[in-house]
Amino acid sequence: MLLVESECGNEREFSEYCAKLLEQYTGPENISIDRLNNVIAYIGDRTKKKIMLTAHLDELSMIVTGITDEGFVNVYRVGGVDRRTLLSAEVTVAGNDGIICSTPPHLTKPGEGNKVPEYKNIYIDLGLKADEVKKRVKIGDRVRIKAPVTELLNGRFASKALDNKLCCFAILTALRKLKKLIAHKELDCCIVVMFASEEEVGSRGATVGTYGIEPDEALVLDVTFAKQADAPGHGLGEGAVIEFSSFFDRKLMKAVDKAAKDRGIKHQYEANGAAYGTDADTIPVIGNGVRTGLISIPVRYMHTPVEVGDMDDVESAADILAAYLRTYEIGGEE
Ligand SMILES: [Zn+2]
Repeated sequence: MLLVESECGNEREFSEYCAKLLEQYTGPENISIDRLNNVIAYIGDRTKKKIMLTAHLDELSMIVTGITDEGFVNVYRVGGVDRRTLLSAEVTVAGNDGIICSTPPHLTKPGEGNKVPEYKNIYIDLGLKADEVKKRVKIGDRVRIKAPVTELLNGRFASKALDNKLCCFAILTALRKLKKLIAHKELDCCIVVMFASEEEVGSRGATVGTYGIEPDEALVLDVTFAKQADAPGHGLGEGAVIEFSSFFDRKLMKAVDKAAKDRGIKHQYEANGAAYGTDADTIPVIGNGVRTGLISIPVRYMHTPVEVGDMDDVESAADILAAYLRTYEIGGEE
């Protein structure tokens, strides 16, 4: 999953990949990819209460803005790329390997050695002369940062785009846990999965997708900050974070919290006044309104190519989703 690219606004390849993964839960006639590359899957009887599980599937990237007379490629960010991580990174531009230029420390002007250049001074070197670069690369082409997936000790791992593929994976894991109930039609609700596009540039996919689905409830999954050496945050590996905000439906979040507690699933809490900067800000006010809540997975070094996550937190998020959906089990305990 981490190896299929999904740059914001150009997610089609990853959307198709995710749509395939959903086929084991519902017929292909219930899975679609819309014009904005949202993946939408209806699992269960559509006349029942629609509970949407959603995570954005797009990732940060860059876009070509120009080519210099010397053949260096100018770029600008798509989403909140951490510019500090760019210098000397390996990239591909329209399928061509390249690197991002970096001024040797010996040649930086006094006082400028530690400064991160603005985008107008960030260039990609493809190793080619200008006329050759112009044949292969066009303005508007997308730039992919090459970054390996690194397994760390203790069930932890580093990769780009854990924001938000980790949450897409958590939703798929929740479905796997509910597979029997889904197959035997034992849930008194319709699960609607939406993997939403273009979150990193302003929740554009979620806006369009939710409008069409008209869900009764939405549970949004996104990443939040894990504590790191130089910054505060949630405990990594200490469970998914149940979020409270004036934007969210308090009854829904209390029910989610109760489901987690009843089944002894480890979790953490966070409360915020209003906006969180996720699709959960937008979804509550679409159409006639959607009862919405947010569950977060902590990651370190957000918006870099080495975001660090912990499998225990993914498992916790999936367990919480599954526990909440099990409260709709026909003839179940509740
Ligand atoms: Zn995100």
